[in-house]
Amino acid sequence: MHKSLNGGCYCGKIRYEISSDDIVVVHCHCSNCRRSVGGPFVTWAVVSVKDLNYIGEKPTIHITETKRERGFCKDCGSSISYHKIGEDTIDITVGTFDDPNAVTPSKHIWDRRRIPWVKMEDGLPHYTEWSIGSDPIENYDK
Ligand SMILES: [Zn+2]
Ligand SMILES: [Zn+2]
Repeated sequence: MHKSLNGGCYCGKIRYEISSDDIVVVHCHCSNCRRSVGGPFVTWAVVSVKDLNYIGEKPTIHITETKRERGFCKDCGSSISYHKIGEDTIDITVGTFDDPNAVTPSKHIWDRRRIPWVKMEDGLPHYTEWSIGSDPIENYDK
């Protein structure tokens, strides 16, 4: 099935379209995402760079000490993207989707940084840090 997903920032100057068959959606509890976006955790859609098209303005990029590009709207401040320089995927904030319910999260990452009062009984696996090459936590602190 071929999906097309649209979204944009709060003020509407940045609009994007994602065309992809393959979107992984994760809840990230790391402290960098938390502070960057200003929420208790961030839900990201991981998409191929080639499947993302901006319509109108592109996000302003803040490059972090660890060479991550965090994109945001310079006018309204919405957090839009996260990209590790050199990788062929980019993460987009599901909170800026026109229809966040069009995608389904599959896991929680960086659980060791999760705020204890964030409790989501969604049955999804929790990973201590990144999920690639590691096993989910058996009995995480609910
Ligand atoms: Zn904006
Ligand atoms: Zn994160």
